[in-house]
Amino acid sequence: MDNNNIMNTADFDVLHEECGVFGAYDFDGEDVASTIYYGLFALQHRGQESCGIAVSDTNGPKGKVMSYKDMGLVNEVFNPENLEKLKGNIGVGHVRYSTAGSSVRENAQPLVLNYVKGTLGMAHNGNLLNAVELREELSYTGAIFQTTIDSEVIAYLIARERLKVGTVEEAVKNAMLKIKGAYSLVVMSPRKLIGARDPFGFKPLCIGKRDNTYFLSSETCALDTVGAEFVRDVLPGEVVTITSKGIESDTSLCQKNNARCIFEYIYFARPDSKIDGMGVYESRINAGRILAKTHPVDADLVVGVPESGNPAALGFSLESGIPYGNAFIKNNYVGRTFIKPKQAQRESSVKVKLNVLKEAVAGKRVVMIDDSIVRGTTSARIVSLLKNSGAKEVHVRISSPPFKHPCYFGTDIPSEDQLIATGKTVDEICKIIGADSLGYLEVDRLSEMICGGTGFCDACFTGNYPMDPPTRDIRGEMG
Ligand code: SF4
Repeated sequence: MDNNNIMNTADFDVLHEECGVFGAYDFDGEDVASTIYYGLFALQHRGQESCGIAVSDTNGPKGKVMSYKDMGLVNEVFNPENLEKLKGNIGVGHVRYSTAGSSVRENAQPLVLNYVKGTLGMAHNGNLLNAVELREELSYTGAIFQTTIDSEVIAYLIARERLKVGTVEEAVKNAMLKIKGAYSLVVMSPRKLIGARDPFGFKPLCIGKRDNTYFLSSETCALDTVGAEFVRDVLPGEVVTITSKGIESDTSLCQKNNARCIFEYIYFARPDSKIDGMGVYESRINAGRILAKTHPVDADLVVGVPESGNPAALGFSLESGIPYGNAFIKNNYVGRTFIKPKQAQRESSVKVKLNVLKEAVAGKRVVMIDDSIVRGTTSARIVSLLKNSGAKEVHVRISSPPFKHPCYFGTDIPSEDQLIATGKTVDEICKIIGADSLGYLEVDRLSEMICGGTGFCDACFTGNYPMDPPTRDIRGEMG
């Protein structure tokens, strides 16, 4: 089939997180692959292009790792037969989304590295700023890379450092001193499960426990899915080492300056997750409440654009007293390889995914809440869907500030020239998307959204990058 006819999820003008990670260590020696499968299934929203699981037996010979990874969703890649073959009581798993060119099987994770000290399995969420330089440096000293992802640079550095120090956790810490950027890591050595979060804490990572099994996960929703209790979040800059003796923590790289990605709360994370003590659902409700106060409007109905717009719409309704309702029916079965409608066809990509409940909106003044506007094409189509279904007025409220800058930390927010908000006023954007009014959440309200929380990154809205952005656009070169 001609690839030009394949509709990638990116065609919907939505943003993507680049990865989700999950790790498990069962001290009773039971196999963990099927539990990791369910953990990854709960993290599927963080990456839909490829996934994989690597496991090892802590009581078996060092260096024997079994892994399986491929392109596709978790339930497409894994089946009872290939899961059954993954024998081992310690393991790591990964779901991945990538930019177009690098969406190949070799770049799927976890990465497994065999070296003189044994074997290393690793899964990474995030994006490095100095991966190109480090890769060049490592290549000049003999490293041969199998993939084009920056995660392999981290794995290589850990393996190299392990030759100089006594433990894997020290090697992870030494590697962290060399890498710059966003990363949450789960690393499996023959006898240890290690979790690490970059000192800014861009990406989430938490610890869970179920009987004698410990877990590391990008989000708490995956802990719920596998029946584990939430133990705590891994701190920004912390390295945790999980062995049969319990959890050891190294906080020597922790710093005061944190930069948790605020967009996790607005859009990426699942609403049933909590990140660093703050509920994602609650923060979305708060965003809606703030919008109702800062951008009130006379209307008959508040609706959310599924899924992340729904809690914000409920918050808007609770604050304003305008009834909350459903206006959209979403088709959730649009997979990776959906056939893209041709230009001349009447079905737009948006219409394929969303349909409007005409009787819910006809003759009404509708407040439509969405999480963000990227290029503006999707918002314009959704507004016109509502109007064509009989809505009298459509007032758009956005539960984030306008995107004005790209993200270099693992989110595919495009460059300035592709963002509708760059160089345009809110009124101009309102006209382009065909709405009757438009209001965004203000940047200085973001902290209120997460109940007074501080230490977050808002660079895609403000341009205040927590660390110097690269001098050229490195996105797409790696990972
Ligand atoms: S730039 Fe935006 S998307 Fe990227 S880490 Fe910061 S807040 Fe998150």
